[in-house]
Amino acid sequence: MRKLEDKVLIVASHNAGKIAEIRDLIGPLGFSAKSAADLSFAEPDETGTTFEENATIKALASARASGLPALSDDSGLVVDALGGDPGVYTANWAETPEGKRDFAMAMRKVEEALQKAGATTPEARTARFVSVLCMAWPDGHVELFRGEVEGEIVWPPRGTAGFGYDPLFQPAGHTRTFGEMTAEEKHGWKPGDADALSHRARAFKLFAETCLGA
Ligand code: IMP
Repeated sequence: MRKLEDKVLIVASHNAGKIAEIRDLIGPLGFSAKSAADLSFAEPDETGTTFEENATIKALASARASGLPALSDDSGLVVDALGGDPGVYTANWAETPEGKRDFAMAMRKVEEALQKAGATTPEARTARFVSVLCMAWPDGHVELFRGEVEGEIVWPPRGTAGFGYDPLFQPAGHTRTFGEMTAEEKHGWKPGDADALSHRARAFKLFAETCLGA
């Protein structure tokens, strides 16, 4: 297991929502982030079929482009009644013909697929958010950390906080969606805390304990 010495972390992402959450998580540990978007790195093609493969592709691309250790996140929504879709294709479901991202449309697609599958009761609409964080070094060494949070798909979407599919996902044991939660409730975690709620914060806890000495 390798540790990180430099206090500036390269975050291998162009997704503003993810970058903001990672900044919230590393800040209390004394780290700051430079993102692949800030550095104008090209976005590599995500050709893998698992979260682990795609996270590795993104982290290695930024580590090699910067010559510094880089952290990526590959994440998505896994819906049981849809055989695990949209899964690694969660971002693709939001793509418009013009090459933009439309999450209202993406959430509608999930709901239409659930209706088609006859998944109308909460028990039939179980899902989880998955996040795999990959820390990669320029010499090709990688470490992977997976976090998951169980929940259900609600309709209509609720709340305007967060990003992506947050308004569609209600974590198990809660009565509000991620879109109705504060950033602190969704992904707050600091060293010493037992656990976090979101998939990304759960993966981050494992990463921080291993690589940041938290
Ligand atoms: P990636 O950039 O290929 O990892 O795509 C991840 C997709 O999952 C994007 O469309 C995100 O909007 C969505 N996603 C990942 N994490 C979250 C989250 O915490 N809330 C809402 N959507 C998420």
